[in-house]
Amino acid sequence: QEVFERQRRELFTMRQLEPMTRDGKYITLHANIELPSESEKVTDFGATGIGLYRSEFLFLRNDAPTQDEQRDAYRYILETMYPCPVTIRTLDAGGDKLVSGITAVNESNPFMGWRSIRVCLDREDIFCTQLKALLLANTKENLRLLLPMISGMGEFRRAKACIVKCRKELEAAGKKVAKVKIGVMIEVPAAVMIVDKLAKEVDFFSIGTNDLVQFTLAVDRTNELITDMFQPHHPAVLSMIYQTVQAAHREGIPVAVCGEMSADPLSVLLLVGLGVDELSMTPWSVMSTKKIIRSINFEDVRDSALTVLQMDDAESVNSFMRGKYAQTIRDLGISSFVGQVDSS
Ligand code: PEP
Ligand code: MG
Repeated sequence: QEVFERQRRELFTMRQLEPMTRDGKYITLHANIELPSESEKVTDFGATGIGLYRSEFLFLRNDAPTQDEQRDAYRYILETMYPCPVTIRTLDAGGDKLVSGITAVNESNPFMGWRSIRVCLDREDIFCTQLKALLLANTKENLRLLLPMISGMGEFRRAKACIVKCRKELEAAGKKVAKVKIGVMIEVPAAVMIVDKLAKEVDFFSIGTNDLVQFTLAVDRTNELITDMFQPHHPAVLSMIYQTVQAAHREGIPVAVCGEMSADPLSVLLLVGLGVDELSMTPWSVMSTKKIIRSINFEDVRDSALTVLQMDDAESVNSFMRGKYAQTIRDLGISSFVGQVDSS
């Protein structure tokens, strides 16, 4: 408790400092939230925006929330955070998040089943209610709308067409609708394979590493029998992230990572080195991540990231990264917040 208190006090003193590497590379640090009320606290932890609001948590009840209820919940977050940006992900139901009355319960492979954007495109009534609520909530123009589980251009274009249709209907009813940025989650390997095409049509990417690792390595993220095979540092995963960053930067759009990797110290070094612009994580991890970023040189972690991309397996990547950085991270005195570096 004493160690935790000391580390917490020290981290809080750096809340206002910039998340900038020693050689001047700024990394945006945002927070992931699941409840609108969490938005009240995220700036206290040093986050400058919300990188992922998992809107499906609003749907975890017996009846679907109405358009007005949704609009109020979204507006609350957007107004609380203003002028900071807020990324709200549209309904990502299914997989491990069953929503009563919406998602099928008897699928043999729910993570690859009728879920997420697939449900929304099949059930336009649910999707359009949410989209209209989001557009109406965006009075301060700080909304970034994020589409989950996109696996093809057709899917993205159909979702975008729904957004355009909802905007037109609202305008025809005399409502004023502000501009909104539209991004997609990169969490299905197919999206990485067509990332050049996606980059030409979206405003930003957010990489969902929890699902990207699961689908790239064919390792169920919830199956305890194979937890040691869930390897975010597998070169195949790192290469997917790198390809995404390169395609995005060619088109001048930013890339965020909003999966668990964003808060793991060695992963932070790899993600920054691979060129990711923004990291989004649980609010509590923002300060320790800032401390890590302020202690490194971008040039150095970029060289390390390019080196590990050539390696054969996650074990080699981990031993290289630990050998080079574990002591530096231990010396930062953030162990209560990031766990043991040796176990990443
Ligand atoms: C992810 O897949 O990394 C992600 C952020 O989404 P979720 O964990 O909600 O599936
Ligand atoms: Mg996901």
